[in-house]
Amino acid sequence: MNLWQQYIRPSSVTEALQALTSAPGPACPLAGGTDLMLDLQQGRHAPVHTLVDLTSIPEMTVIEVRADELFIGAAAPLSRIAASTLAGQHAQALVEACSLIAGPQVRSVATLGGNVAHALPAADGTIALLALDAQAEVADLHDRRRVPLADLFVGPGESALNAGRELLVGFYIPLCAAYQASAFKRIMRAQGIALPILNLVVWLERRAGRIANIRIAVGPGGPVPFRASATEKALNGKPLTAEAVSAALDVLLQEARFRTSPQRASAEYRKHIVGGLFKDTLETAWTRAVSDR
Ligand SMILES: Cc1cc2nc3c(=O)[nH]c(=O)nc-3n(C[C@H](O)[C@H](O)[C@H](O)COP(=O)(O)OP(=O)(O)OC[C@H]3O[C@@H](n4cnc5c(N)ncnc54)[C@H](O)[C@@H]3O)c2cc1C
Repeated sequence: MNLWQQYIRPSSVTEALQALTSAPGPACPLAGGTDLMLDLQQGRHAPVHTLVDLTSIPEMTVIEVRADELFIGAAAPLSRIAASTLAGQHAQALVEACSLIAGPQVRSVATLGGNVAHALPAADGTIALLALDAQAEVADLHDRRRVPLADLFVGPGESALNAGRELLVGFYIPLCAAYQASAFKRIMRAQGIALPILNLVVWLERRAGRIANIRIAVGPGGPVPFRASATEKALNGKPLTAEAVSAALDVLLQEARFRTSPQRASAEYRKHIVGGLFKDTLETAWTRAVSDR
């Protein structure tokens, strides 16, 4: 049996939205297909009549600076983000995440938009975008709007997008200024595919030997991609000492809702190993954000 009846390859966002909304049966956007094709084949996705391929839309594959932000098109393949000098300069944690996702074949077709739209709480690209304070550009047939990344998720595997009517066009990330830096690290089974046991991203600004501003995201730290705001507060204004890291780790263990996932790790194991990952990622971001003194 065919997995779909109609395949459309539009060349603009408007054409794509028209194709989605006017299809004679259920329609769905397709990017790299690395999640969607498996879900369709294995019956985890409702049957689809029309697939709308987003990968030939120039606006959705561009990586460029727009005013004081970096824009990354939602259909840009992960391998291109990983190799982008602009992304390396302004979103190092995202480059590190995109370099580690899957293997080269998957990375050459999988996209950041697909990673976000799938809405998994430990998706590597999504966790990096969250700590980088990204906003998504969402389009429907009538309008475009900016949405803070955290507002895109309602539950595990469930995004707030109106499926078949709305598209992620791309992501805006604030440009990286002096004394700011980010780092992404993860713990993965040696033979692991798809998601990691844990990932963690730190973005910080370092001024006069102290953390002047910090954002931390951890996956999977809850049912939706998780920002560790109480942990951020615990570190803000402090120098990065062993005492500060240890006190902040206590806060992280209180606020993150680590859970047991049958294929990957128990909640207890995640709690046990998160300390090392936390310290390591903090120290890398701190070292990268060379101080002004
Ligand atoms: C072998 C393997 C290893 C993997 N390893 C990892 C890993 O280490 N880390 C990780 O995070 N993920 C991993 N993944 C998951 C997957 O590759 C990523 O989630 C990928 O980024 C999905 O992007 P895609 O372009 O292939 O999405 P698709 O499969 O094309 O789409 C996924 C979903 O998003 C929707 N969608 C896609 N683009 C848009 C858009 N612009 N607007 C609205 N909706 C959209 C689709 O309709 C679909 O529902 C792995 C997958 C495989 C098969």
